[in-house]
Amino acid sequence: MTFAAQILTLYPEMFPGPLGTSLAGRALGEGTWSCDPIQIRDFATDKHKSVDDTPAGGGAGMVMRADVLARAVDDAMTRQPDAPVLAMTPRGEPLTQALVREIATGPGVTILCGRFEGMDERLFEARPIREVSIGDYILSGGETAAIVLLDACIRLLPGVMGAASSGDEESFESGLLEYPHYTRPNDWEGRTIPQVLRSGDHAKIAAWRQAMAEDHTRLRRPDLWERHSDVRDQSPSGAQRQTKEKRA
Ligand code: SAM
Repeated sequence: MTFAAQILTLYPEMFPGPLGTSLAGRALGEGTWSCDPIQIRDFATDKHKSVDDTPAGGGAGMVMRADVLARAVDDAMTRQPDAPVLAMTPRGEPLTQALVREIATGPGVTILCGRFEGMDERLFEARPIREVSIGDYILSGGETAAIVLLDACIRLLPGVMGAASSGDEESFESGLLEYPHYTRPNDWEGRTIPQVLRSGDHAKIAAWRQAMAEDHTRLRRPDLWERHSDVRDQSPSGAQRQTKEKRA
């Protein structure tokens, strides 16, 4: 089944953009996903094809009009009723690997890209739109955020990464950052690959990787580590461990 991406934008020429190359580009060519950028301006009805207006209450910049955006969203929902409608906004829920997986396992997605100061608030009250942010910084438009989201989804579609990797061991999949990687040459500028990785002992390698993933997460991302520790402590084995720790 093709994962169908509809992107509502004032800059349809930005798509597929970088998603037309490498893994995503090949998958697009093979029909694993489809890319349908839709010009929001086509849903404007006045003779100037206006999509924005000055902010109510005054202030700098322009605001995208609810009536124009709603027509674009309604049209996209008619074409793909089962796909979630997302709006890229800095105040949206953070894009996480869990959300990426949720979207990637669905039939596709409709993504609304903002410009200017953003979109008229009434749109979010009147339509079932989920706001998503790619981080705590401001981009000039939602298109690059949509590309980030799509890239993360497309690589998870069946067959895109190939049989060699399912992505299951990557950063964030287990709630931890990934362990470090090495490859030949064994000795580079006097630095050697850790002996355990050359031992051929798969159990030891797995234990070392787990320990490294935990160390890196604890040191670099205390927020992730805290969440991971909470989940672990609430699992049946975690509860057993806590009981044992209390007894000791
Ligand atoms: N005035 C808005 C604010 O302060 O939150 C910023 C508007 S920004 C210049 C224009 C558009 O870029 C937004 O409507 C949104 O679609 C997109 N955008 C900017 N930063 C984003 C982010 N971190 N995540 C997702 N979309 C973003």
